[in-house]
Amino acid sequence: MEFEPVIGLEIHVELSTASKMFCGCRVAFGGEPNTRCCPVCMAHPGALPVANRKAIEFLAKIGLALDCAVPGHSIFHRKNYFYPDLPKGYQISQYDQPFAVEGHLDIIVDDEPHRVGIERVHMEEDTAKNIHAGESGRIAGALYSLIDFNRSGTPLVEIVTRPEIHSPQAARIFLNKLKNLLKYLDVSDCNMEEGSLRCDANVSVRPAGSSELGVKTELKNMNSFKHLEKGLTKEIQRQVELLQAGERVVQQTVHFDFATGEVTPMRSKEFAHDYRYFPEPDLVPLEAGSDFVESVRAAMPELPGARARRYVDDLGLPEYNAEVLTSSRELSDYFEESLKHFDDAKLVSNWLMGELLGYLNATGGELASCQVTPESLGNLLAMLGSGQVSNAVGKEVFAEMCQTGKAAGEIVEARGLTQISDEAQLAGIAEKIIAANPAQVEQFRGGKQQVLGFFVGQVMKETKGRANPKVVNQVLRQKLAE
Ligand code: ADP
Ligand code: ZN
Ligand code: MG
Repeated sequence: MEFEPVIGLEIHVELSTASKMFCGCRVAFGGEPNTRCCPVCMAHPGALPVANRKAIEFLAKIGLALDCAVPGHSIFHRKNYFYPDLPKGYQISQYDQPFAVEGHLDIIVDDEPHRVGIERVHMEEDTAKNIHAGESGRIAGALYSLIDFNRSGTPLVEIVTRPEIHSPQAARIFLNKLKNLLKYLDVSDCNMEEGSLRCDANVSVRPAGSSELGVKTELKNMNSFKHLEKGLTKEIQRQVELLQAGERVVQQTVHFDFATGEVTPMRSKEFAHDYRYFPEPDLVPLEAGSDFVESVRAAMPELPGARARRYVDDLGLPEYNAEVLTSSRELSDYFEESLKHFDDAKLVSNWLMGELLGYLNATGGELASCQVTPESLGNLLAMLGSGQVSNAVGKEVFAEMCQTGKAAGEIVEARGLTQISDEAQLAGIAEKIIAANPAQVEQFRGGKQQVLGFFVGQVMKETKGRANPKVVNQVLRQKLAE
């Protein structure tokens, strides 16, 4: 029997507001433990929370960017559970009246568009951090544990998808697209290693073609794209094997060990949490109002979809280029900045997608730390445009720019790479090559036009790629006709 995977993701995003969700402590990663905390985020009795307006604004941005309905009215609940990193004994979260509902995010999987529904987007607060003293850093085997409250109360947005993702690859594509969108919105640094973006994956399998949902398991804290894709693949395989053996899947959390590639069930018993949600009595209902929501909507930055459309409609780029260039905010900012220095969208786009991304891929580098600025790329392309350097030499110069951060002009000058467009000089070289290859000359004169390419190649070789191809062609045709 064929099985189809069904996946739903729960994504947590730490917002990059200046202060925490319900107090004035600063939000930042790491630092000396317990240096950014106060009675509110350490849960001292009687301390009262006040909601962070900026966080609500960021939340609205996320909701709107995911095409959600944002009613403007919502309330906070207490989600009760015990854990040392949660000394209040409850987390302030949202329950039956989340801030944003019923949205979607479109992705492309195997060249096919696919829409993933967003069930809800709500506001909550992050917990403190347990630090287990011991070699492994895990609770097992630790001598004792300490608690760092710096993270406690960091604004956390939870985004819950509908179970509408159907492969590990699609889950990765979705998470990547969501991350990209959040970066456009400038609401989080989305640093997965530092936990600013975290993902729990729910997964079940069902007979292909069925519309019922199977029993799901949950993979917690998939903290990289690779983790997510590989963990889901392994878990789907485990579930299919169980069903094929006539057994059943038990609803539980499973642990994925990236190092060994093994998935192991965490709890043997089916277990439904009862968080005893009730409305948070220390906070008034959130009446953001339609004015607020509309003002956030009006101030939204241009999102990747709109940017891509503009590249196609206004700049005349192919859809594919537009999609690639808007795949990250940094890249599209880089592209637009380059255009200010060299105004040929197609050429800039080709160089970014071919040379720049190629270089970053090959070296595993990040655009943010790339030594070539949009301005210096623009300058190189201008030298190309004016015929100062040939295309082949341009690529060589670009590689050196990436490695050294030097300007194109400086490299070209130091290495004597300027393009040779001088007709007399090229004619001299052409004559020599024609004289040395009588057989090819005969073929060409006998009507074999493509032999011209051979001669062009020889001239290029002789000039180390510096010859202007247009002039070379012209000179060769002339000489061969003589
Ligand atoms: P729970 O009550 O266990 O938290 P929810 O219904 O709230 O479950 O869903 C949590 C996440 O799990 C959502 O992203 C949802 O899309 C996903 N999900 C729910 N049921 C299934 C299922 N049968 N298979 C896969 N994912 C599911
Ligand atoms: Zn505080
Ligand atoms: Mg739930």
